[in-house]
Amino acid sequence: MEIQLDIVGLSQWGIPYDGIFVIAGPCSAESPEQLMETALGIAKCPVSVMRAGIWKPRTRPGSFEGVGAQGLSWLKAAGNAAGIPVTVEVANPMHVEECLRQGIDVLWIGARTTTNPFAVQELADALRGIDIPVLVKNPISPDLSLWIGALERINQAGITRLAAIHRGFCSFNEKVYRNKPEWWLPIEIRRKIPNLPLICDPSHISGRTELLPIIIRKAMDLLFDGLMIECHINPRAALSDAEQQVTPEALGTLLSQAKVKKASTDDPQYLRSIAHLRSTIDELDEQVMELLKQRMKISTEIGRLKKLNNIAILQPERWEKMLGDRITSAKSKGLAETFILRLYQGIHEESIRHQELADPEEQPEA
Ligand code: PEP
Ligand code: MN
Repeated sequence: MEIQLDIVGLSQWGIPYDGIFVIAGPCSAESPEQLMETALGIAKCPVSVMRAGIWKPRTRPGSFEGVGAQGLSWLKAAGNAAGIPVTVEVANPMHVEECLRQGIDVLWIGARTTTNPFAVQELADALRGIDIPVLVKNPISPDLSLWIGALERINQAGITRLAAIHRGFCSFNEKVYRNKPEWWLPIEIRRKIPNLPLICDPSHISGRTELLPIIIRKAMDLLFDGLMIECHINPRAALSDAEQQVTPEALGTLLSQAKVKKASTDDPQYLRSIAHLRSTIDELDEQVMELLKQRMKISTEIGRLKKLNNIAILQPERWEKMLGDRITSAKSKGLAETFILRLYQGIHEESIRHQELADPEEQPEA
């Protein structure tokens, strides 16, 4: 079901942008000079908003926790010099109050805060009656409702210039990304709230600069409206997130390579070809559906047989062997193991449900 939010599109935010709405700047504000130099550097790229963390939510105590409220005037001065509006992470009503006093233009809610509905509600209450754009990062766990709930709380406080930032999700044992993208979540949020602007934060997804181009390309292919990228004048000396920040020059290169994708075209040849390919996909899906139906019917029969003989539904050895065989077969067909694993976990779960429902009294159809 679609979720209705009373929001306006990015083009009505009063912040100019060219194709992609780019937010860039350091993970943390460190000094007035650092912010000024960054602002003047990023002003040469198509950057719409400058970011800087002032109060840093660090996972463990003892690391750099931000320069605090003094950084707000440094950031504002840098933004003014470069002619760029500025944004800061707020985690409590005191942060909101300080930002509004210093004329910060846009606020963002960090991943750790989105995770806590009490904290989000306190922010919403502090924002009531104030007209400022707010960006809501996804919660650290892949929980769509928690993310949507935070957006709803802020929207219900009267904030209509609202966007979501996808920064990936904590995942145990993840090796490639700092925060696993789980792309289906932003895809799902777009389906549920089609008018919500979506911004991708490839810096916190990747945790390292080499992955930035791939993630930016993916975001463009998934029709994201904007990007939030961490940028530092001397990344190696950055006081937080040093491995994932790029210089303003590197940011310029990244953005010049980012190709905005169109949602559609009226080119007749493209329209003919895509219509043909899509109708083939539709036919194949119909066949997949028919096969699944037949497969579940057999599961019901198996369930009946097990019930008659007082046999448990789950047969770990059979499941283990079947999964192994399917993965081997899938690999030989060029299909990814992770995909087949997820697919068969779903099929197996549904098959168990069909076996549970089986009535031993009922005779299978002839
Ligand atoms: C940040 O943007 O620097 C930050 C702390 O991000 P997140 O809330 O996504 O971890
Ligand atoms: Mn950071």
